[in-house]
Amino acid sequence: MTEPKTFDVVLFPDPVLRKETEDVVAFDDDLRATVAGMLERMFESHGVGLAAPQVGLTQRLFVLNDEGDREKPERNMAIINPTIKKTFGKKTKHEEGCLSLPGVDAEITRPDGCLVHGFDEHGNEFEKEFTGFLSRIIQHEYDHLQGVLLVDRMTPADKMRNRDAVEELKDQYRQFKAAQAREAAAEAESNGEAKA
Ligand SMILES: [Zn+2]
Repeated sequence: MTEPKTFDVVLFPDPVLRKETEDVVAFDDDLRATVAGMLERMFESHGVGLAAPQVGLTQRLFVLNDEGDREKPERNMAIINPTIKKTFGKKTKHEEGCLSLPGVDAEITRPDGCLVHGFDEHGNEFEKEFTGFLSRIIQHEYDHLQGVLLVDRMTPADKMRNRDAVEELKDQYRQFKAAQAREAAAEAESNGEAKA
């Protein structure tokens, strides 16, 4: 058994959240260590779902536990290379948050049910219908694999309401990148590269 990997949550507007994702090709210990690490990160962050781009990976997979409870591992699910083959049922509006968009929440309208084709972390293929909260989590995480975020699905009213929180995230990201650049420059200088 490989140790779970360690991940941080990538925050909006990091471009990795918009990158194209690729199918997982190997259902091996490395994948299972990724899944275990993503579940760990999700529980630590008090989430109910987490998609690969949110930990900086451009792979088509996500994990979830609809109770967000690490004491209930029977509710853990990893869905690899998913396809939502169809959605069905009444469209419902429900508040959603996202670990990559802290401080932002929006009422998102989605169909109640979805039919999903995919694989688990052992490579077992499945096709299954989900409804209710599970279906909503799956549709949210599936969006991540297409680079779609809550900010894209918000109503104009929710956009207005969340404007300050979104701007603050953009500011924080700019400061984070600037600090990274300063650190890199300082390191280059201490290596004597800046004088070359
Ligand atoms: Zn999300």
